[in-house]
Amino acid sequence: MAKKKKAVRKKKRTSPGSGQSSVRSAAASGSMDGRTAIYPGSFDPITKGHVDIIRRACQVFGNVTVAVAYNPNKDAAMFSPEERVEMIYDALPDLEGQVVVDCFTGLLVDYARRIEAGVIVRGLRAVSDFEYEFQMTMMNRHLRPNVETVFLMAGEQHFYTSSRLVKEVATFGGDVTSFVPPEVLDRFHRRLERPRET
Ligand code: ADP
Repeated sequence: MAKKKKAVRKKKRTSPGSGQSSVRSAAASGSMDGRTAIYPGSFDPITKGHVDIIRRACQVFGNVTVAVAYNPNKDAAMFSPEERVEMIYDALPDLEGQVVVDCFTGLLVDYARRIEAGVIVRGLRAVSDFEYEFQMTMMNRHLRPNVETVFLMAGEQHFYTSSRLVKEVATFGGDVTSFVPPEVLDRFHRRLERPRET
């Protein structure tokens, strides 16, 4: 079963981390224009809240580039950028063709310019996200006024889901089944060297 999945994965994957090849293939298919949307984040790991936002973004924009942010010099993430890209593709098997997953480092607005994206999608949870998102949006607008930020809200069952909390709970052996896609659960169990409970 797991083997079969891997084969599908290989077909879809480009080279994460380059910030180039997967984007080029999307550009070649004609999807890169001013309305191209990027959904940036650390996705360490992807949660069901992220999945919800990606699905909504696809409904609004037709397709979306999910952009995994990483810092090559100082990345405190639990999963490597490549692992994060794989988990995102694995979580969205039905959206092949609509979702491109890529990695980037540096300023988001520079990345947006490179892939000719005109829209940044961000997700909003409870009020706690607002101030940070507001500051980020204003700074990005200052740096690149022609890139618009659009906020989407996930379903209410995801209002309190965050990668940070999910990692914390999983690290101490708590059950995070409700909050992450099954593939992420597997990764957690492998990473934490704990057999998966069924
Ligand atoms: P996290 O904040 O969980 O570590 P990211 O930094 O990867 O996740 O977040 C990327 C974007 O997704 C941000 O705009 C964040 O607000 C949004 N987001 C994350 N989790 C959720 C959720 N459960 N519902 C709605 N938006 C979310």
